[in-house]
Amino acid sequence: MSNPMYSFSDDCSPLSDRERVNLPYYGVDVRPAHERIYDFDEILLPFDEQRARFEAARCIHCPTPAACVTACPVHNDIPTIMCLIEKGNFLEASQTFRLTSTIPEICGRVCPQEKLCQGSCVHNLRNEPVLIGPLEVFVTDYERSVKGSITIRKGAPSGRKVAIVGGGPSGLACAERLINFGHDVTVYDQRPIPGGLLMYGIPGFKLSSKVLMAKLNELQNAGIHFVTNTFIGKDITIDALFNDGFDAVYISVGAGVDAQLNIPGEDLPGVFKGTEFLIRSNVNLDLLPPGMTTRPKIGKRVAVIGGGDTASDCERTSIRLGAQEVFCIYRRTEDEMPGVSKDRTFARQEGTRYLFLTQPIRFIADGNGKLTAMECVRMELGEKDAKGRRSPVPIPDSNFILEIDTAITAVGYYPFPSIGETGLDVTRNGLIAIDSKTGATSRRGIYAGGDAVRGPSLVVEATADGIRAASSIHEYLTKL
Ligand code: SF4
Repeated sequence: MSNPMYSFSDDCSPLSDRERVNLPYYGVDVRPAHERIYDFDEILLPFDEQRARFEAARCIHCPTPAACVTACPVHNDIPTIMCLIEKGNFLEASQTFRLTSTIPEICGRVCPQEKLCQGSCVHNLRNEPVLIGPLEVFVTDYERSVKGSITIRKGAPSGRKVAIVGGGPSGLACAERLINFGHDVTVYDQRPIPGGLLMYGIPGFKLSSKVLMAKLNELQNAGIHFVTNTFIGKDITIDALFNDGFDAVYISVGAGVDAQLNIPGEDLPGVFKGTEFLIRSNVNLDLLPPGMTTRPKIGKRVAVIGGGDTASDCERTSIRLGAQEVFCIYRRTEDEMPGVSKDRTFARQEGTRYLFLTQPIRFIADGNGKLTAMECVRMELGEKDAKGRRSPVPIPDSNFILEIDTAITAVGYYPFPSIGETGLDVTRNGLIAIDSKTGATSRRGIYAGGDAVRGPSLVVEATADGIRAASSIHEYLTKL
């Protein structure tokens, strides 16, 4: 018996204009969906001074420890900052963010605030939370617009050299703090431009590459050396770094290997992996890594498989690349989705439709070998797994065919297998094992953090790891 074609029911029908207008409002002002889907510019409309002061004045300055500060992985002093913004002291507010964070202008844009600072705001009990993220963006952009660029403090030269392996948020945070301590820092990165997922993974409609480029220039002006297109483990080994005179190494290579669905047809043309799709879609062609130097050719009906932030990014990118219909396929319900609801709201506004409790089981090609459909099976939630999440279970005889011409898989990431060749102790999952207080690995003088240690994590968590490791490395170097 052949499987029925999918017919769209209420769970997946496009939203009416009225429904789109009535989607949850997150307080932030964004460009209208019908305008923003035609470009990759940031969708956030910045606060002006009056709006920023009004918003900050809503903070009731909870006593220490304020829940928002505890929930922020770098523990920004939010009540003090809100006080400064309320009074119009925007420069001081920005500098207070910089005391605890190396990239507040980026975290304000990409943090899932609903799960962190804003999610812990006491106002949630009755009202909307104070919009801490947009205020972070406002004051840090204000500082840069007034000053032109931010000067990063350089400590007195210590005579010690540190290599950072991986120039993503964690590596850049560690590098900046080590420069503050006076150490000589070199950042190695496998791609043509440092920044990791900040450059290659987060689309421009969430984070303009101009913001990152400004930060990279400031780091370079502070004396940090960048060595790009260099893959540690292949082009140069950790041992060679020590032989070259480095006194310590921080490993922050991220988790850049896409997980596979392991179903038939996954290697068909038209089936993309989420990471590669975003890299090839979002970055200027001259900045693309070797082997990824062309834009992905997508069709008209795109299925994105996964429920995290990368899935939302792929959906919204597909729409901007010209897809007419975009479906998000997820095997549990929306309640179990790991991605932030704000991004899903934006994806819905831009036209993404959701098929929950659905699992693809094979990709189907036409006679010419081109992707033409995907066979799926309906799921239901069964028993809870070890993490307390109810496991999806296939419903017998519920298979159906969804016609698509492009698929993008965004179902998780693994660390680079080369981590296992560093000689460092690794965990069962292939992540680098560290001392959780210091970030020290099993080898003397080598520290690690970010996704290579945690698995897929937030930009701000990776940043916190880099800041903490820099203090540990500084302590280690002063005892040498
Ligand atoms: Fe909130 Fe993130 Fe800023 Fe912390 S870094 S205050 S969690 S937006």
